[in-house]
Amino acid sequence: MRAVIMNRPGVVSIGERPMPVLEDPRDAIIKIIATCVCGSDLWPYRGIGSDPVDADMGHEYVGEVVEVGDAVRTVAPGDIVVGSFCYSCGECEICQAGYQSRCPNGGFTSAVGGTQAEYARIPLADGTLVATPGRPTEEQLASLLAASDVLGTGWFAADAAGAKPGATIAVVGDGAVGLCAVLAAKQLGAERIIAFSSHPDRAALAREFGATDIITTRGDEGVAELKALTEGLGAHGTAECVGTESAMQQAMAATRPGGYVGFVGVPHGGSLDMGKLFFSELHLHGGPAPVRRYLPTLIDLIYANAINPGKVFDLTVSLDDAAEAYRAMDERTAIKAMLLP
Ligand SMILES: [Zn+2]
Ligand SMILES: [Zn+2]
Repeated sequence: MRAVIMNRPGVVSIGERPMPVLEDPRDAIIKIIATCVCGSDLWPYRGIGSDPVDADMGHEYVGEVVEVGDAVRTVAPGDIVVGSFCYSCGECEICQAGYQSRCPNGGFTSAVGGTQAEYARIPLADGTLVATPGRPTEEQLASLLAASDVLGTGWFAADAAGAKPGATIAVVGDGAVGLCAVLAAKQLGAERIIAFSSHPDRAALAREFGATDIITTRGDEGVAELKALTEGLGAHGTAECVGTESAMQQAMAATRPGGYVGFVGVPHGGSLDMGKLFFSELHLHGGPAPVRRYLPTLIDLIYANAINPGKVFDLTVSLDDAAEAYRAMDERTAIKAMLLP
């Protein structure tokens, strides 16, 4: 089968990989219907944090089940399914508590082969995949693909930031995850949603997704503007969707004492000042998002046409043109690129 391979930093090609096969009775094999390039794929692409050599790529997917192991009960061949960047058992105490991304029996989907390919093996199918009510429209397909990572991650960020009716929620980061955090905050009932964005196209989408205010500055200047909008107090909660030290500092400074910071940007180094942390009186809640927790709700909203997070995809190319998709996201000419096998 054809698969996207990162030969080395900055070099992505399409190559041949063996067809995945069932390796465990709890596995499912899916035919990929749509997949995409993630912001986190850009780290190895830029040679930061790892040095890829002919690496399989991709961890976001919508697929059709083609084969399941004997122990699989909840999905069957023909089902259109969504999963996430982690596979999980669904049965342990950690999964039951809603932290499937840290399931002690699970792991990262990318560790068992990439989903930027024609087919993929998904371990622990019952605890990982969620079957949709049927074939999606083109618009719903893009939104399901968003649910696989960026929407689920943005949703966790907004949830952890305490988005609820009456709340003022700030969002740091105007990438696909940040934009989806805006959408999630709106769905969770936040009254005021303040998005930081200096990119007019992204700010426009943030407004469409529910942002009530846009702040185009960042750092101390951005925080001062936010304070001016919130009677000097700061937001009730902030979703940090970047992962850099400066973004985390901005998120903490933007949040009022006793408030909540949901942080989902993957950090590559950086540290927090213990003194500032102590006096902040903040609730910090973050990590690799337990996307699986939210998938059933997100799928329902998408099939009810209540949300359209698929709008974050502003580039769609064939799997064969994956290199173009990586380049566009690296150069920030695309927010997020969809790949069709
Ligand atoms: Zn991702
Ligand atoms: Zn588990």
